[in-house]
Amino acid sequence: MLQVLDGCRRVIYASAICASIAAATLAPEPASAQAASAPATSAPADGAKIAPEPEKRRLEPAVTATDTPKPAAKLEKSRSGLSALVAAYPAFLDRVEGNELVWKDGTRMQIDDGAGAKEFNTLLNAPDIKDQFAYRYVTGRPAQVPGLNEDPGRIRFMPLFNKMYGDCTKGEVLGKLVSVDWLPKKNGGKIKVTSVNGVAEKLAAVSKDLDELPDTFLKYIKPNSGTYNCRVIAGTTRVSAHGHAFAIDVNSDESDYWQWTKPDATGGYPYKNRVPYEVVEIFEKHGFIWGGKWYHYDTMHFEYRPEMFGAPD
Ligand SMILES: [Zn+2]
Repeated sequence: MLQVLDGCRRVIYASAICASIAAATLAPEPASAQAASAPATSAPADGAKIAPEPEKRRLEPAVTATDTPKPAAKLEKSRSGLSALVAAYPAFLDRVEGNELVWKDGTRMQIDDGAGAKEFNTLLNAPDIKDQFAYRYVTGRPAQVPGLNEDPGRIRFMPLFNKMYGDCTKGEVLGKLVSVDWLPKKNGGKIKVTSVNGVAEKLAAVSKDLDELPDTFLKYIKPNSGTYNCRVIAGTTRVSAHGHAFAIDVNSDESDYWQWTKPDATGGYPYKNRVPYEVVEIFEKHGFIWGGKWYHYDTMHFEYRPEMFGAPD
């Protein structure tokens, strides 16, 4: 059965198949790559696999008000993130001035809406610009699975992205799409992504690098499972990153998605992933974040979000 979820065409697996998927294949990395606030996870002796998330996290419900980042920590992350935001989109953004993001065309957008700390669902559905940096994206091979509700990059302030990439529901995105050869050495076909912010060139560079990986990696990236797709995420008013045409899903048959798994008895979603980090690393090198670093994991999903790489600790 084919259903469309979160802007991606996804094959919905029988739950038995989902349940049989092995634990995450994320290899551990030195402690320096770990989130500073998170406890260390001891690596297994063979260094090859990490067991699914410890019981502690799965004892909590998936969404809680108490999980919202503390205001002070949020503000600090936001300040560093804002500098990264301006630097990431030089064609559009000029500077931060007080509580406003100033665009090169003179447009001003409020950074902090003054609503104070937000519950997790509000962060997703009604964020302001600073909320985009509520969770830090850690580059590099993950040392542990994401903590509860840690979804760095999943929070998007829509007016900002609509202004840069266009609003697909108003027909503003199609005219900006260009073709990119996906894995040209391996006949991956053509895909269409936005030309805005150099996304097409960046994805072409990703494609070129992926083409050089050994054939054992091919099943994870060919066929791809879609790029542009204009739709609102079910149950929300949010347009998916695919609606802005700066996202790609790699092979869904080799991927995992939190909504394919029912929450366990404790309300948690045990982490799953099969996508090798060699693939992720190439995307990150070119400014794309990976949905496999989200608590609400979406391991086929990559999107161009260079601002998420620039925020210092
Ligand atoms: Zn996706």
